[in-house]
Amino acid sequence: MKRGILERLDAGEVVIGDGGYVLQLERRGYVKAGHWTPEAVVEHPEAVRQLHREFLRAGADVLETFTFYSSDDKLEISGNVTNITGEQINEAACDLAREVANEGNALVAGSVSQTPCYVNSRNEEEVKAIFKKQLDVFMKKDIDFLIAEFFAHGEEAVWAVQVLKTSGKPVAATLCISPEGDLNGVSPGDCAVRLVQAGAQIVGVNCHLDPTCCLKTVKLMKKGLEEAHLKAHLMIQPLGFHTPECNHRGYTSLPEYPFSLESRAMNRWDMQKYAREAYNAGIRYIGGCCGFEPYHIRALAEELEPERGFLPPASQKHGLWGSALATHHKPWVKAKSNRQYWENLRPASGRPLCPSMATPEA
Ligand SMILES: [Zn+2]
Repeated sequence: MKRGILERLDAGEVVIGDGGYVLQLERRGYVKAGHWTPEAVVEHPEAVRQLHREFLRAGADVLETFTFYSSDDKLEISGNVTNITGEQINEAACDLAREVANEGNALVAGSVSQTPCYVNSRNEEEVKAIFKKQLDVFMKKDIDFLIAEFFAHGEEAVWAVQVLKTSGKPVAATLCISPEGDLNGVSPGDCAVRLVQAGAQIVGVNCHLDPTCCLKTVKLMKKGLEEAHLKAHLMIQPLGFHTPECNHRGYTSLPEYPFSLESRAMNRWDMQKYAREAYNAGIRYIGGCCGFEPYHIRALAEELEPERGFLPPASQKHGLWGSALATHHKPWVKAKSNRQYWENLRPASGRPLCPSMATPEA
């Protein structure tokens, strides 16, 4: 019997989340950019299964169902599916995550995300009905807990939490907001308070901005909760790209979004630094979103090995801090088999005419 998410967090354990599916599967040829819908779970289950497996092997304690943007209204607008229903997509996503999670000790989290309906209608009843349909599938498939993620409006996330709470399963909620707050102008602290009051046991942020910026936002949420005398576990699943511009709307307003983000990719050493800072901030559910590949998740698990007490299977092929190079036959490569080298490296981009920062679109 696997221990649940709250049992793990209440015991003070570190939970490693998984990484990003939608951008990675777009690069691999299974997701279409634009509407970013997850019909690959039905059309190419082997591709989704493989990515789940890589995250599990890298140390993820949770596999999220690949149900990003799989609400009926979003699927309809996308035009990406004709012969597949939303129910089929959500069911197939649950089956894939469960199959792979059971190959290890991972939990399955059913995920819902922001809907076009909220922006178009702001109708609470209609938006809630959309989440309820997805929840019905998650309950039928007996997922372990639920995540409301990638909400730019705290209000919509609160509605999602209220629906998910009816299941009796643990509920996490993460917003894709900046330290300035959500798109309705509500501060991170107030957003966190409202989510916890709605019943979320785990709150934080995901996507849109890099770890440095997301950490600022989660710290503001933590402060808001403390001031309101509320308790909740903290969660963070940022971008795996550097976005030092830290603009309010996030990476979608950067010139490189979405097809030229490679130059901003974080490396494994950046990830170790992020994992340590998140841990020091009191966050215990630490994962990633878009741009987070399996080796990034492995880096989180390796940094937090002292706290967790074990390394993931993928570390069998990775010496800590470059130690795998210790037997290299070229002395100048062998010289890199130490922490100091990698920790102090300032990687060059190899693009002499490129700027280091961009001006985000207004
Ligand atoms: Zn993302």
